[in-house]
Amino acid sequence: MVLDTPIDQVFDYCWEVGEAASEPVPGQFVLVPFGPREVMGLIVAVSDTSDLPTEKLKSALAIRDQVHPVADAWIALCRFAAEYYQRPLGEVALPGVPKNLRTAKLVALNRALKKIADGFSNQDATPFGMPALNRAQEDAVEAIDAARAYAPMLLYGVTGSGKTEVYLQAAARLLARTPDAQILILVPEINLTPQLESNVRARFPGLHVATLHSGLAEGERMLSWLAAHHGHARIVLGTRLAVLASLPRLALIIIDEEHDPSYKQQEGLRYSARDLAVWRARQLDIPIVLGSATPSLESWLHAQSRRYRRLELRERAVPDAVLPTVRLINMERDRPIEGLTSTLMTALRLRLERREQSLLFLNRRGYAPVLHCDSCGWLSNCLRCSAFMVLHRPEHCLRCHHCSLELRIPRACPTCGNVDLQPMGRGTQRVEEGLQRLFPEARILRIDADSTRRKGTAQAAFDSVHRGEVDILIGTQMVAKGHDFKNLTLVGILNPDTALFSHDYRASERLFAQLMQVSGRAGRAGQKEGGSASEVWIQTRYPQHPLYGALMAHDYDRFADDLLTERQQAGLPPFVYQALLRAEARELQTALDFLQAAAGAIDHPGITINDPIPMTMTRVANVDRAQLLLESPSRPALQAFLRGWMPLLRAMRTRARWSLEVDPVDI
Ligand code: ADP
Ligand code: ZN
Ligand code: ZN
Repeated sequence: MVLDTPIDQVFDYCWEVGEAASEPVPGQFVLVPFGPREVMGLIVAVSDTSDLPTEKLKSALAIRDQVHPVADAWIALCRFAAEYYQRPLGEVALPGVPKNLRTAKLVALNRALKKIADGFSNQDATPFGMPALNRAQEDAVEAIDAARAYAPMLLYGVTGSGKTEVYLQAAARLLARTPDAQILILVPEINLTPQLESNVRARFPGLHVATLHSGLAEGERMLSWLAAHHGHARIVLGTRLAVLASLPRLALIIIDEEHDPSYKQQEGLRYSARDLAVWRARQLDIPIVLGSATPSLESWLHAQSRRYRRLELRERAVPDAVLPTVRLINMERDRPIEGLTSTLMTALRLRLERREQSLLFLNRRGYAPVLHCDSCGWLSNCLRCSAFMVLHRPEHCLRCHHCSLELRIPRACPTCGNVDLQPMGRGTQRVEEGLQRLFPEARILRIDADSTRRKGTAQAAFDSVHRGEVDILIGTQMVAKGHDFKNLTLVGILNPDTALFSHDYRASERLFAQLMQVSGRAGRAGQKEGGSASEVWIQTRYPQHPLYGALMAHDYDRFADDLLTERQQAGLPPFVYQALLRAEARELQTALDFLQAAAGAIDHPGITINDPIPMTMTRVANVDRAQLLLESPSRPALQAFLRGWMPLLRAMRTRARWSLEVDPVDI
């Protein structure tokens, strides 16, 4: 039996045969005593004997036989994830199961089970209101429909090319052919689930559709999980955590915006939902569709080497809708006022006159990234991190985005007493304020993590944009993804340059994807009579940069091929495989010492172990952090090394806290 604990072992419990109606079988959830508590465990094997002496064996308390046992394939998936990411099986399998299911009293559980067997007969999988597909969409749907075994497909389609329609019609064909099949659709962002959910529900009014994401209340999450697990839910939509849902009749997996960084879990079990989904598809021998306008270089390489089949949608789906014209504004010549160049202001004014919507993209929330004293040079450093505290004017505070420390805005400079402290730089709140001054008649809405902190506010904000109650939308990456705004003809990108010179080798891949995504929000409904052609204006100091050139040409193919060549020459992923050991401690030296000892703990032919170094942002919340990067051209070699290394690390005595990440993305 496995339990949700960091101890990497399988625990033995006994069960008296004939004690109750049911006998334990692998895959069942069981209530057991663990220390002073009662916890839910998962049976992974049943045996007549145990290595423990009988008097040491504790009895299991109750088998939850109301819940079907999970399938062997699901345990195998968890076991693979546990081994690949070097975590205990219990820590993989159990956290994926909703908390309520693990703690629920029997009455609550029975009530939930009754509820999910409610409601939907699932008799009628007839789709409703299917638009005619265009040629390219038709070909893509045909290809997905024809795949009857493991077949990874990269659906490479420009923004607005109707990828969603391909997913829905491929789903419809599968459900028509296999009525009890289950389909898993992953989206990168919670805020995209309502839009897709309503599309799916409208399309399949007779089907049980369940959603799984971290925004659900525990009760709802349990219902969705059980509906998926008992096979009632035919279509399951969710964010990355849904990849670990138990789906006994899973027959098709779809990953929308497969390149998106949020498919990577960044704490605990640091898994890639995309990679696990592909593994799962291969294990179940079913097709998987990875959709994107800017595929990850990993998937791009697979498509180039024909391990993935490439399906292409080169044009926008709505008749007359074309990709927006992308233009650059040289900020050295056209100096911005309130963050906006005169060119962009003119473009905004035109949209206001024509009652069209505009979107301004600035990936920096808050009012200003730092507060500054002109006379002595004081800066608003965080007291606990190697980072600046961000000025949040509407909330009247300085806030650290890394440790959440919050301080009142000082009236005067803490070092010299100067009362004239100045914000430096510009975040979304400051742009919003400037817009209100420049365009007092416009209806302006800001959408970022601050404006949508309360539950339901994000959805309400997006709804008001869709209803046309907003003229100018200003936002962070939250507004860049997936949303199908119908009346938006202008996108302004305020300050993307910083990412051009990042030390992170993935920064330009990400920046390109992000700018392509946000540009793709413009002109989705086609040009109206007397309306504007769709435009994207990028404000930059580096108009010659090749990344912008590729963006203007909408040429991801070349950009991706060039990046791959660079990566190959530099010996970077996806041509090498990496693992990152992180350590943190009160003293940087403690962390570095641990990493140094870890590096010397074992022989490592075929593995490059780099020197331990402090992380770029060394201090967070009074803890210093360092890292050790391992690389190998062979994934199996790296895996074999890690298997031998982990027990040695676990046995090492250190005051540093450490964690290992396989296939790290932020290094
Ligand atoms: P993507 O996900 O590729 O960015 P969407 O799936 O959001 O694009 O589709 C963009 C728009 O095109 C949507 O408004 C959708 O309703 C519309 N659309 C998709 N397929 C068709 C089609 N075959 N005919 C007409 N409109 C379509
Ligand atoms: Zn000062
Ligand atoms: Zn801090």
